[in-house]
Amino acid sequence: MQINSGLPEDFNPSAYDMIVVGAGYAGAVCARRLAETVGFRVAVLERRNHIAGNAYDYLDEAGVLVHMYGPHIYHTFSERVHTFLSRFTEWTDYQHKVLANVHGTLMPVPFNHKSLLLAFGEERGEELYAKLVETFGKDVKVPILQLREKNDPDLAEIADYVYENVFLHYTMKQWGQTPDEIDPSVTARVPIFVGDDDRYFPQAPYQGMPAEGYTALFENMLDHDCIDVFCDVDARDIFELTDTTVKVCGNVYGGEVIYTGPLDELFDLDLGALPYRTLDMKFETLDMDQFQPVGTVNYTVSEDFTRITEFKNMTGQEVPGKTTIMKEYSHAYEPGSGQTPYYAILDPDNRKLYESYLERVSHITNFHPVGRLAEYRYYDMDAVTASALNLSDEIIACHA
Ligand code: FAD
Repeated sequence: MQINSGLPEDFNPSAYDMIVVGAGYAGAVCARRLAETVGFRVAVLERRNHIAGNAYDYLDEAGVLVHMYGPHIYHTFSERVHTFLSRFTEWTDYQHKVLANVHGTLMPVPFNHKSLLLAFGEERGEELYAKLVETFGKDVKVPILQLREKNDPDLAEIADYVYENVFLHYTMKQWGQTPDEIDPSVTARVPIFVGDDDRYFPQAPYQGMPAEGYTALFENMLDHDCIDVFCDVDARDIFELTDTTVKVCGNVYGGEVIYTGPLDELFDLDLGALPYRTLDMKFETLDMDQFQPVGTVNYTVSEDFTRITEFKNMTGQEVPGKTTIMKEYSHAYEPGSGQTPYYAILDPDNRKLYESYLERVSHITNFHPVGRLAEYRYYDMDAVTASALNLSDEIIACHA
């Protein structure tokens, strides 16, 4: 497929039935669906120099396939999402596993039978495990709140250990919070797994990695005669919003607009910036075959970084003698700094601010905000795909 850099001088918005801002999942799914179902001519505008949004991957200098914006593991319960995405890629059978580094010992997360033995020693660990099985049954996820509610000293001991060694410091690093600021309802939901399955998503029926990578998946999805892709184009340079219309290149645009960028940016943050956490990703290529036993290891009690990813362990790629790892450092996002807004900070004030921006575009009937930025929420890849498929259905219904 052809990816253009910049817009041609004679770019004519009215030659397109739909303009999509952003070439991540939200934008690419809508572009493909509208192009192939109702024959829309679609222009996709992307301000980065690549497609695939935050799922973008590429071969680094050592030839290792790395995820530029953090490790992405595909898993879904939705047959519709899986069927749609599977048109554009084969999948590997990768099953994600996470370990926590607790004072140098690597324990499965969510905390399970094996973790108990590692944390408490064989004898005590088996005793505690027997109590868990007796109380809750086997192969179930139990939030630590439920352990505490039983008023049993053994179960409380497990809950306290998991809270302190797996959850607390990790969450403080990730969200920049003090223990007092951590929402008790979030703490209560931290799960342990009563059983031996050490997969991170044991229940997800569809799970794996795209065989040729995420960028290749997006190339296939956007490869359609009716879709033109323009990278290095910031929509804000050609968009202007009024109360009821969107102007593109100075003229009121009559087609549909899919907008997957942040809403506050469209209004120059005039009501205030929507707060996010961002991540500094530090990549290192090492002269060895393998650095750690699994894809991601969380550093739950030590270090400034939250976790280390080793990409070859997730992709299954063979690169003898070399491996690339990545450390994630979390901190507050500063608008206009060039940082990537990763995680929306979802508290009631921020939600209210978002609603105020949303209200300002709600009377523009052909303007459709969708995706993690435009909806100011956390979306997994499958959930954002589902949302984009649903939005596409609505637009198709109006044009069929
Ligand atoms: P994005 O991928 O962010 O795409 C939006 C695009 O719009 C961007 O490319 C942006 O440059 C472009 N854009 C914005 N404004 C403009 C503008 N004005 N003009 C032109 N272009 C613009 N999900 C999983 O399912 N599994 C995982 O393991 C997983 N891991 C993750 C790890 C991290 C560290 C993070 C942060 C997220 C992870 N996710 C994961 C979530 C996943 O990244 C999102 O579901 C997905 O990226 C959302 O797609 P999107 O299209 O909404 O947004």
